[in-house]
Amino acid sequence: METNLCDIQADSGVSVSSRVSRKERSDDTIVNVNGVHVGGSEIIVIAGPCAVESWEQLFETATNVKSGGAKILRGGAFKPRSSPYSFQGLGEEGLKLLAKIHLETGLPLVTEVMDTRQVELVASYADMLQIGSRNMQNYPLLKEAGMCRKPILLKRGMMSTIEEFLLAAEYILNQGNEQVILCERGIRTFETSTRNTLDLSAIPMLKSLTHLPVIVDPSHGTGLRWMVPAMAKAALAAGADGLIMEVHYKPEEALCDGHQSLSPDEFARLMIDLQKIARAVGREIYLPAHCCI
Ligand code: PEP
Ligand code: MN
Repeated sequence: METNLCDIQADSGVSVSSRVSRKERSDDTIVNVNGVHVGGSEIIVIAGPCAVESWEQLFETATNVKSGGAKILRGGAFKPRSSPYSFQGLGEEGLKLLAKIHLETGLPLVTEVMDTRQVELVASYADMLQIGSRNMQNYPLLKEAGMCRKPILLKRGMMSTIEEFLLAAEYILNQGNEQVILCERGIRTFETSTRNTLDLSAIPMLKSLTHLPVIVDPSHGTGLRWMVPAMAKAALAAGADGLIMEVHYKPEEALCDGHQSLSPDEFARLMIDLQKIARAVGREIYLPAHCCI
């Protein structure tokens, strides 16, 4: 353990530093994403394509996820791809399409920022900045995000412990930005049948250690479309405050992560099941009236 950490211990024996700790603040932090509150009794579902590809793709996907009950739209303009030859995202053009769809649908936007030099630009379009798994330990980026006044969606590093995850969040809070949502998105293990191993035990652990909201990404957590509904339901049963899921209007034509993206119909059906799980655990998902037949 580092000497600059407070000796705050959870039941697990994991020590976490102070600002993110529940010992520092026992009440749950509610993160306000342009009017949508994450961390309260309402379960918030974020949905949209992995990457913004075109106006048609964004429009068709966004209007469908809204009608299915999503409260925040996701979509990457700057994409961290394993191969430099893969689609890298539309960049600022993608941000402009996101701004346009926000006007059209009213859905708040979350999109990824990969570089300190992009923080100002991305923050001028997005309602929440995503720091992806690969950048969870990019400390200059965490500090820059901490200086910006937009909420931050921080994804767990694929090789990171819960303590490292919380310390990454601590970097952001330390700069004065307390609007941070943590996202469990799977970790690398010896298992190869799924893209990652979705660590659902991280949900109760994080909820006990920190006051920050915790959401789950079953799309990257499994890499398999057919497995997303089961893991989404399990995440809510385990106490997650929300979900982020990839949806594409034509998953088979997606330029990025199509195999793990739900179709709009699959998403709409899943939302109805998720509402039942939410109620069973004393939470609520508010769906548009046309869904509740
Ligand atoms: C994403 O959300 O599209 C993404 C790249 O996720 P992660 O950083 O968790 O891999
Ligand atoms: Mn993706």
